[in-house]
Amino acid sequence: MAVVLVGAGPGDLGLLTLKGYEAVKNADVVLYDRFVGEDILALMPREAELINVGKNAGNHPVPQDEINRLLLDRGLQGLNVVRLKGGDPYVFGRGGEELELLIEHNVPFEVVPGITSAIAGPAYAGIPVTHRNYASSFHVVTGHGKNNEPTNIDYSALAGAKGTLVFLMGVGALASICDGCLKAGMDPGRPAAVVENATTPKQRKVEGTLSTLPSLAASHNIASPALIIVGEVSSLSGRYDWFSKRPLFGKRVAVGRATPGASKLALRLKELGCETIELAPARFAPNPNGLDRAFAGINSYSWVAFTSATGVDTFFESLAQRRIDIRTLAHLKVACVGSQTEKAVEKWGLFADYCPSVFNGAALGKGLSGLAKPGEKVLLARAKDAGSDLPGILAAHGVEFDDIPIYEKAYSGGDADIGAIDYAAFTSSSAVDWFAQNAAGVDLASLDAVCIGESTAAKARSYGINAILSDEATIEGVAEKIKELCVWKSGQEGFAQATS
Ligand code: SAH
Repeated sequence: MAVVLVGAGPGDLGLLTLKGYEAVKNADVVLYDRFVGEDILALMPREAELINVGKNAGNHPVPQDEINRLLLDRGLQGLNVVRLKGGDPYVFGRGGEELELLIEHNVPFEVVPGITSAIAGPAYAGIPVTHRNYASSFHVVTGHGKNNEPTNIDYSALAGAKGTLVFLMGVGALASICDGCLKAGMDPGRPAAVVENATTPKQRKVEGTLSTLPSLAASHNIASPALIIVGEVSSLSGRYDWFSKRPLFGKRVAVGRATPGASKLALRLKELGCETIELAPARFAPNPNGLDRAFAGINSYSWVAFTSATGVDTFFESLAQRRIDIRTLAHLKVACVGSQTEKAVEKWGLFADYCPSVFNGAALGKGLSGLAKPGEKVLLARAKDAGSDLPGILAAHGVEFDDIPIYEKAYSGGDADIGAIDYAAFTSSSAVDWFAQNAAGVDLASLDAVCIGESTAAKARSYGINAILSDEATIEGVAEKIKELCVWKSGQEGFAQATS
């Protein structure tokens, strides 16, 4: 039991260390931030509490003090806590700061170093940070000062060292960085490059010189996260490039899924250089505080209302985990909405007292308002951020209730709006169903999909999708077929260009 500071590497799943992987697999709690790749997040154990402390999807980042407190709190509970950080936890990662409070409270900790983007990013762009003919040292520099203050980079010392310079957090200051280098006497023709989203299928690089790089990067709209590399080694980037030469680099394939978690097919396609868009059902995590509150007050309720099968399963699984006997619910009447929810309740040996015939929160609210007698309190055991219809209607009818979030969306395996794709790939007919019903903005009639077997293909055709069977009914077979189609398509495009 300890708090483990784990470096997740720069993005490519394969660059997480074995030790980091072990720590993540055994975690009870994971605190992660941005720059931790989606593939790595998909490795989290199902039951783990996932806390996003980064600035994802427009949310504000959790302040550093709060992160430190969360680590301490979970650490003191004796849980296996993983603090997952992009790259290496100590390379501009505030790893040290996060240990201070733990040390003060004698909470044991370990550190698993990660592969830093400062080395891996250049390598994936074909740039070795040192090379006997060009550079005998390399210097990793931040382009961004503490509390957003400008950095006081000693450019003349860097110029004197003659090594390769790698700037992190520097895209916003690219012009001033190049300017600083030039003013310190570096050659305006010195090779330099920028690598954006390094080690991921979205990797882009721009090559130039100290004098041309700022305008080149601006014209390609290079944005964070990106690395700036200054030095002769940058000139090797074409010669040593391997990443963008892989057969499916630049292609986008939507991989249909029936369950959350890591997908073998997606991993294989990524190895071939492909960007995969994985549409998977969302993953949900129990909310321990909400569950504790609900169970502690259980005798004050006359009704419990469920609005999803996930809510039902979370409620009863958590009850058992806490070794609370199911007979403590004997006084409760059960209301639920939707046939799946009702089925889930029945699975636990209970038969709902009330289910509206219309499957929505408003109908449940209206029905319950008529059924709950004065003085009877209702427990709404629902998801965090669930709709406001049900509580609104209960409140309007003067029904007493507690709306307790007992679970929340922890990780969604994909973005519903997937944008332009080259192909879709399906390895089961339930994945086809889920995709066809959830992929926004995809015209199924013009979609080409590689399918693993005849029944998957038949299901795809039933939605109007153009199904292409893989030669072999294996993951490798599907990947091979996509490769074959992409190579053929590139050939056709090349032919069209050559003849136009
Ligand atoms: N601890 C991290 C760095 C954190 S600072 C590490 O060792 O890699 C964040 C900066 O790292 C970003 O602004 C960017 O400059 C760089 N960075 C991280 N991941 C990157 C990636 N995949 N591609 C390019 N730059 C990356």
